[in-house]
Amino acid sequence: MTSTRTLLVALVGTVVALTGLTAQDDRITVRAGRLLDGTGRIVENARITIDGSEIAGVDRLRGAVTYDLSGMTVMPGLIDTHVHLTSHFDADGETHDDLDESPARTILYAAENAYKTLQGGVTTIQSLGSPLDAELRDAIARGSLPGPRILSSLGAIRESTGTPDEIRTAVRQLANNGADVIKIFASASIRDGGELVMSPEQLEAACGEATAVGLRSVVHAYGTEGVTAVVEAGCGGIEHGTRFDDETIALMAERETYLDLHLELLWSNYDEYRSAFIGRGNYTEMGYARMAEARRAGLDTFQRTVSHGDVKMVFGTDALAGAHGRNTDELVARVRIGRQRPMDAIVSATSLAAESLGLGDRIGTLARGYEADLIAVPGDALADIVALRNVRFVMKGGVVFKYEAQ
Ligand SMILES: [Zn+2]
Ligand SMILES: [Zn+2]
Repeated sequence: MTSTRTLLVALVGTVVALTGLTAQDDRITVRAGRLLDGTGRIVENARITIDGSEIAGVDRLRGAVTYDLSGMTVMPGLIDTHVHLTSHFDADGETHDDLDESPARTILYAAENAYKTLQGGVTTIQSLGSPLDAELRDAIARGSLPGPRILSSLGAIRESTGTPDEIRTAVRQLANNGADVIKIFASASIRDGGELVMSPEQLEAACGEATAVGLRSVVHAYGTEGVTAVVEAGCGGIEHGTRFDDETIALMAERETYLDLHLELLWSNYDEYRSAFIGRGNYTEMGYARMAEARRAGLDTFQRTVSHGDVKMVFGTDALAGAHGRNTDELVARVRIGRQRPMDAIVSATSLAAESLGLGDRIGTLARGYEADLIAVPGDALADIVALRNVRFVMKGGVVFKYEAQ
């Protein structure tokens, strides 16, 4: 019943927005009880004016508005820097290998995931990533299909990709295919122990070639040895991280490496859907035991990194089947158990995440000239971060995709 109501509201919202688009001169205005601009600034009783797909201005003028969100906290649409858009449960309730089914079916599941993600308040994602992401990315960008803006790696570089020369060739191939970022597995899966498996030469080839073709690199790595090797190879971002020492934290701060440390949603989702994962590949009893250990160690690592204060911690969830649309659970956990300040958590998912994607001048901030991506949650999100689980308003590129009045 809830999902039907949500869909109806979404459709009504879309109609409102489309009506607005037909009258080209009509600007949309939004009243925010409290506006968080994404960079740390707070404006009470703000008015946001949207012209087409962009924000035309933010002021405090009174008067009638198109959307009165005066009881809500309004912030930029959230940015999740690590999801797996095509990951889904099949009709039997279990995960599967992409190769088992038609690309058409996989893409439809991915479209469902994209819709849920957008409704959950995430207006931009980085998918790390299936080659099939490209079709959905381009379809959503055409403007009719509801979903977040998508960046994708379209694949990954692994130790098994080969020699440094073979790795450079593979990076160029991904770039030619239209990848937005290069995903690299420097360490083994945590279910296989998470040890560093790439040589320094392989890492430098992967991250160096990414830079040479104008792409960012994000690297799956664990532990002091793995994370240090990745940072020293000049790679741009660390995925997962965890189990690294204080020297590594200082090194990441010095090199301005982006860190996306998954604290909670990834693990709780694996526990919740244990029966859907267990028995496939390295999802064994031993694999689950190693994930439980990584979760414990990750909390300590996250808290130490937060208390250091100078590491560029960005928001990402590693959302797989079961987690799409619940992305903000991770942000809530980062505050409640990770000890990150609410404003820092929100900045990590807005302006800082945008900066990490190379989109810091287009999204992630509510200011004139930025894309009109904004969301609202009831009450004061800074006082009660759990409000982020209750996204009531979603606008992407000036189009309203969700509006549940108070
Ligand atoms: Zn399937
Ligand atoms: Zn991942």
